[in-house]
Amino acid sequence: MADPLAHHPMSPITSISSELTEKAQIGLLVKRDDLLCPGNDQEWCGNKVRKLKYNLAAAKAQGHTQLLTFGGAYSNHIAAVARAGQYYGFETIGIIRGEAHTPLNPTLQQAVENGMRLHYLNRATYRRKHLPEVTQSLRDQFGDHYLIPEGGTNDLALRGAGEIIPEVINQLGSLPDYLAVACGTGGTLAGMIRACEGSSQLIGISSLKGSFMTKEVQQLLGRNFPHHNWQIYSDYHFGGYAKFPESLRQFVQSFEQEHHILLDPIYTAKLAFGVLDLIAKGTFPRGSSVLIVHTGGLQGWKGMMEG
Ligand SMILES: *Cc1c(COP(=O)(O)O)cnc(C)c1O
Repeated sequence: MADPLAHHPMSPITSISSELTEKAQIGLLVKRDDLLCPGNDQEWCGNKVRKLKYNLAAAKAQGHTQLLTFGGAYSNHIAAVARAGQYYGFETIGIIRGEAHTPLNPTLQQAVENGMRLHYLNRATYRRKHLPEVTQSLRDQFGDHYLIPEGGTNDLALRGAGEIIPEVINQLGSLPDYLAVACGTGGTLAGMIRACEGSSQLIGISSLKGSFMTKEVQQLLGRNFPHHNWQIYSDYHFGGYAKFPESLRQFVQSFEQEHHILLDPIYTAKLAFGVLDLIAKGTFPRGSSVLIVHTGGLQGWKGMMEG
């Protein structure tokens, strides 16, 4: 089995500018983790590579041959676990929220082609998926396995996501004034906050509706975490998780035309829109550098283009 801890090449950082960034005198950078794709396809890229790295190593070290995880039917995390499992030689089991639909959507179809076994849980049971009664019945049904939580967020995931920080320092010589990333579970942001140890300012743009993300990230960091150099914006959800209105579609199109970078529809579209809006509103002092992390997620387009 290949070593999950083997070093991957650093994802590049590119500088982008526009009338807006010139006028506001902001140096805008993009960390291209969307190009961090060990399997050379879009199923397992970006922050899912960083978040899975130490989990895969732990699964291997503990002698597991099966990975089991949870997700919605279009989940980037499900896609990533299926592909990473195939790459490293683990069997994979995907526990999918809701009822089975045929034909499978493109994400699940690809996951099955990558060797994942799918199992559906109705929404009520799915909500209780981390309770012993459910985890035990999954063990009875599928045998021994390494369990990765929904969205892949656990302490080992934070450790992997945190590695983006020394990588950026290595590439730029120091950290930019601001680092911005999209939030689903908040695991990637929390890992970056931890790794920054109080330096720089971190910004999360939540893809979900509601203002609970700050609490989630606080919880991931732990009660006694001493640094408060981070903030989450919850006004850029565009209607909620997986909502993709025409205005956002147009933004993605013009962003790609101008900067030649394709954003994903669920997370980084909202992130880039949010950061540009914050720049327009004068949130960052003139002369600041702002780095946004393109966390990948391009496999999500297959589902968006469906139907
Ligand atoms: C999963 C995902 C996220 C969310 O990451 P969290 O660690 O759950 O906050 C962000 N961007 C992309 C592209 C993703 O696939």
